[in-house]
Amino acid sequence: MGLTLRALFLAASATRVIASCAHGTFLRPRAEGGTVEVAKFGYTGSIGPLNWAALESPANGVCATGTRQSPIDMVDGVFTVLQGADIQLTVNDMPGGADFENLGTTVEVITQGGTLTVADKTFELQQFHFHLPSEHLDNGTSQAMEMHMVFQSAAQEIAVIGTYIGIADAAAAAPAARAKRSRISARQEATPPPATGAVKATTLLETIFSVVDKIAVPGTVVKTPPLVMSEVVDVLKANAFQIYSGSLTTPPCSEGVNWHVSTARLGVTPASFVKARDVIGFNSRFPQNAPGEPNLLMISTLGSAAAAVAAMAGGSGAVAVAPAPAPTV
Ligand SMILES: [Zn+2]
Repeated sequence: MGLTLRALFLAASATRVIASCAHGTFLRPRAEGGTVEVAKFGYTGSIGPLNWAALESPANGVCATGTRQSPIDMVDGVFTVLQGADIQLTVNDMPGGADFENLGTTVEVITQGGTLTVADKTFELQQFHFHLPSEHLDNGTSQAMEMHMVFQSAAQEIAVIGTYIGIADAAAAAPAARAKRSRISARQEATPPPATGAVKATTLLETIFSVVDKIAVPGTVVKTPPLVMSEVVDVLKANAFQIYSGSLTTPPCSEGVNWHVSTARLGVTPASFVKARDVIGFNSRFPQNAPGEPNLLMISTLGSAAAAVAAMAGGSGAVAVAPAPAPTV
């Protein structure tokens, strides 16, 4: 796996494309001089994930051929579960704030130290960034957002902690909002929040997204207010991880990535979600086939070719067009 990653690195470094999931790692070293390089790939049209392999060939080839690609549907009971208490995770607070960059494909916080130790391997935290909506699916269901904390080991292996982010319900919203509502209806305020599915706003995320509108333009950077990381670290340690060997979810889609998808839920208020959405837009790769199964793009390409051959063999070569059904939207 290490060899594969190194080979990809050598191939990829000939080009200058930034991959957000690997940004700041050996696969995509950060630009020098404090500049923010904007990625050349995207999420829609001809630069979208259906065409990533062709954007940079052969560096991105595994995007279309790899059989352990991410993200995937995290189906309960399928994956090895690692308790949060069984990993060592530390993330340094950033009392002076952190650089928060818009890479064009995601918004990313440049961290200032942190380690993940699992099964006697230690990885150093490089950055964390956000996807909207979530890339992994929770039993077939997308979540509002997903945070990826990207770590790299001395042996240049990559580990990522993926954490779903839900939209905090009104009862768990900011105190100011609660106070306002209680004036409207004291009776409603007394109603307990629903027991299932409710998440409360995570202070770290509220703090970060309070300035996301300042980096609306790709290539820009802003300093966040002071960041306290213990809240999220404690949540992660108190829950569990579903683990699997997958890939970067961005070009070059390198495999051998140690995925830890948390069972925890972070939360953002509806206002912060809208603010983040207005900057991020959409940056979620489509769900990939289950680990070990053929790449969906290979299946699609071969299937389409076979269908085209069958259509040509079946008649004049013209494709019969059925009467258009009434449009449904
Ligand atoms: Zn990512």
